[in-house]
Amino acid sequence: MNYISTRGGIAPVPFDQAVMMGLARDGGLLLPQTLPTIDPVLLNAWQTLSYQHLALEVLSLFTGDMPRADLDDLIDRAYSSFRHPQVTPLRQVGGLHILELFHGPTLAFKDVALQLLGNLFEYELKKSGGFMNIIGATSGDTGSAAICGVRGRKGINIFILHPHGRTSPIQALQMTTVTDANVFNIAVRGTFDDAQAIVKTLFNDLDFRDTHHLGAVNSINWARVLAQVVYYIFAYLKLRKSGFESVDFSVPTGNFGDIFAGYVAKRLLPKGCIKRLILAANANDILARFVNQGDYSIAGAVVPTSSPSMDIQIASNFERYLYYLFNEDSDRVKAEMEHFAATGRMDLSGCLEEVRRDFAARAVSEEETIATIRQVYEEHGYLLDPHTAVGVKAAQELKQDRPVVCLATAHPAKFGDAVKKAIGKDVELPPALAGLSTLESRCEVMDADAELIRSYLQQHALL
Ligand SMILES: *Cc1c(COP(=O)(O)O)cnc(C)c1O
Repeated sequence: MNYISTRGGIAPVPFDQAVMMGLARDGGLLLPQTLPTIDPVLLNAWQTLSYQHLALEVLSLFTGDMPRADLDDLIDRAYSSFRHPQVTPLRQVGGLHILELFHGPTLAFKDVALQLLGNLFEYELKKSGGFMNIIGATSGDTGSAAICGVRGRKGINIFILHPHGRTSPIQALQMTTVTDANVFNIAVRGTFDDAQAIVKTLFNDLDFRDTHHLGAVNSINWARVLAQVVYYIFAYLKLRKSGFESVDFSVPTGNFGDIFAGYVAKRLLPKGCIKRLILAANANDILARFVNQGDYSIAGAVVPTSSPSMDIQIASNFERYLYYLFNEDSDRVKAEMEHFAATGRMDLSGCLEEVRRDFAARAVSEEETIATIRQVYEEHGYLLDPHTAVGVKAAQELKQDRPVVCLATAHPAKFGDAVKKAIGKDVELPPALAGLSTLESRCEVMDADAELIRSYLQQHALL
């Protein structure tokens, strides 16, 4: 399996290079040259597989010549850090199906991908004898999950930019209290989009990128998307075993990474297994406007909400979906992305029919988010985090005559303030979060200026 760029400007590369490359060298994103499909006769056998074994089957469709035993070992090590034996258990809560993705070490779904990616990076670096400097931007959860995935690993330094004061206090502590020598936290005075733009600038400087062996942990890394495809198939197979042929998923969305993994899962599975993907947005609703009106345009500044990991205007994985929406026409992707970079607008109203075959969307307000946390708690005694609540609300509004799996992307204790607002009491901190505020922490606060960050990196990067 080889990988190409959404913008068509690179020669196809194998899986290991795609993982190490992160962003394609022509500024596009990497995708498999062809998407495999899963033979329907396999589904019965796959229904009984453990999460790890299913991951082995799904990932091996994409990993090319990596020995199966090596992949098996990487998967086992990645998911041994999860606190639940099923890794991502599917729970029934009243009429809802909740896919709990937060049993990893930092209590958000990003651990599912980043625990695997940390092991993959180490594996590839061992093979090549090289080193890498990871640079990434985070709206909160990616940073801690990425840091946790690579802390203390040989041959890797990690630089994580987060928007100063815009993550939850616990999210900031989860990053800044990791004081391993290879971990560098930078709080940028600006928004997540500012931080992300700096990362893109540094990546697109090919000299800088080559000299410093930059690596990506943002969801622009194909291996992250791939790791997330597994839990969609896992959840589908659970419901299939209970007699459902067809399901929907509701996905709280920011960077379009998680829901794009759902789109890949939809295309891998036989037609109709995953019927619709419900895109749930908060007040930052550019993606909901895209699905409902074909209008992908930046509208004003990012609005801070109680679901900060979705406070994003420019969804970095959207380009991957465009590639398929445009029937794999990379020239058109390139032209539209360049137009968007120049104007902040993309008119996709001509594609609406096609989009709405796969997606439905709803933007959920702050009031609705809090009310949903309260309602589900009062009716079922189950606590949702605000991101999950956005997805649950969208599912309640858009449900049709088949089950909807709501992705639970974070543990409620990570966003205790919002939860307290909803239910009037504090959430008990799980052991992974208790006591964080008493630990030593390390963080550099800097202006949102790519040149400042560049020189900081030059001083602290592995060489
Ligand atoms: C990152 C994150 C999201 C959004 O995921 P994307 O892949 O960016 O769409 C939703 N919820 C939580 C808790 C997150 O950390």
